[in-house]
Amino acid sequence: MFSTMQDFPLTITSIMRYGTTVYDSCEVATVTDDGVRRRSYGEVGRRVGRLANALRRLGVDGDQRVATFMWNNAEHLEAYLAVPAMGAVLHTLNIRLFPDQLIYIANHAEDEIVVVDGSLIPLLARVLREMKTVRHVIVSGPGDRAPLADSGKELHSYEDLLAAAPETFDWPEEIDERQAAAMCYTSGTTGNPKGVVYSHRSMFLHSMSVCTGNAMGMNQTDKVLPVVPMFHANAWGLPYAAVMAGAALLMPDRFLQAEPLVKAIESERPTISGAVPTIWNDVLRYAREHGSDLTSLRLVPCGGSAVPESLMRGFDELGVRILHAWGMTETSPLASAAHPPIHASGDEAWRYRMSQGRYMCGLEVRVVGDGDVVLPSDGQSVGEIEIRGAWITGAYHKDEDPGRFHDGWLRTGDVGTVSPDGFLVLTDRAKDVIKSGGEWISSVELENHLMSHPDVLEAAVIGIPDEKWAERPLATVVLRADATATAAELREFLAGRVAKWQLPERWAFISEVPKTSVGKFSKRTLRDMYAAGDLEVQQPS
Ligand code: AMP
Repeated sequence: MFSTMQDFPLTITSIMRYGTTVYDSCEVATVTDDGVRRRSYGEVGRRVGRLANALRRLGVDGDQRVATFMWNNAEHLEAYLAVPAMGAVLHTLNIRLFPDQLIYIANHAEDEIVVVDGSLIPLLARVLREMKTVRHVIVSGPGDRAPLADSGKELHSYEDLLAAAPETFDWPEEIDERQAAAMCYTSGTTGNPKGVVYSHRSMFLHSMSVCTGNAMGMNQTDKVLPVVPMFHANAWGLPYAAVMAGAALLMPDRFLQAEPLVKAIESERPTISGAVPTIWNDVLRYAREHGSDLTSLRLVPCGGSAVPESLMRGFDELGVRILHAWGMTETSPLASAAHPPIHASGDEAWRYRMSQGRYMCGLEVRVVGDGDVVLPSDGQSVGEIEIRGAWITGAYHKDEDPGRFHDGWLRTGDVGTVSPDGFLVLTDRAKDVIKSGGEWISSVELENHLMSHPDVLEAAVIGIPDEKWAERPLATVVLRADATATAAELREFLAGRVAKWQLPERWAFISEVPKTSVGKFSKRTLRDMYAAGDLEVQQPS
């Protein structure tokens, strides 16, 4: 027998201890109304100890879910570290979800505590009473608490709790690296949102992968600006990777418009910043108009939707490199990044840069065709991309959804090719959801609402390319004989049923929804018809 290495668990506790100790003077800065406020990682470490003690006093002594309803800021980082490090489960709530979804998610996860930014109280107040398992609400930062008063929950001030708690916490030594550390729900599927549970081990390995040179090469010379929200797939793992690598953090809080972002970039000079294409499009427009200097950025990881070539070239002209990356909430999320291989130059290098990137070591990817037949990874065969690996979810929380898992592989719902050298190119999406500005819109939900209108016989909603939002819904509708509903009336009908930003702007009346051989709506045919200009599109004002 061989003697091998020590069995040392890979945990967030160890990331937290390491980062806040050896990079004690490293800094997290948070953008505010008047400048930035700064806190050293050492200080964060002490506050994390206080937060853990405070949570323990509120009854967190196992794998209870502690939810956050927060922007990207230093306090959210503290929750990111304290909650998993003490053995509990961090549940990041997406503040942009429709109230019904938020209520469903908090109840499904059985959240017990919610930490909320004062500026988000009005949004939380709409749903808090219905969050049945929540007992305590901790308010961070200034904000009028009155709207929470009749929620039936116990309210606390974040700073008061920390001030009253000791800074040394008895961190558990024996955390099982496979135990749940955090969870995040995705609405990028049909039906109810699905809970993805991250383990300590998956987060640790994902963070290490983010730090490798073939991903972001994050290290202690970097300053990282996560614009991608910490409530969406761990802000792409940027906060944990930064603490692991000793990279400084610049948190944008609620200042996510182009102007404050550009100003923060010019004054604080971050080196890495991740956001969806919609944000960078706006930043590019603003930077061009104002001659802004973004050159401190050495790398801009961008994904969540396909990155338009014009955006990448526009950033190149400003001396900033966009790195196209792909992933999902279910993949922690970073799964691939598009660094062209060393031999590629000119147009060939651009082709690589425009791909969804080469998948990381620790993961495996394959292409699957009709009848679940595995197709060759030859860069030609098109099928659904399936993925498995150390930071890929194998099941949803309390929700079997066997349709999404296949022999231990995750069916991504993304359609495309994989080349022999490991690059993914996405050509289509099999899942019935539309991604607009980084947030999901369920086409099925829109269709169901539309088909409940007395004038509508059939309705199929597809995602179509949009310059600003990456994708927007286009509603195609078949009216019943003699029915007279107009696009404006149908839009008005939907307005009472879904969030405003989900309402389709574009409508087409058709005589029949094209069907597949098994009688399903053929969204692909509709997309092709739209691309060929065969749909008469109206835009009611
Ligand atoms: P989410 O779980 O909300 O992060 O969404 C993941 C989904 O976003 C993927 O399955 C894709 O459909 C889409 N997506 C993410 N990155 C890209 C990309 N680089 N190109 C095209 N689609 C992407």
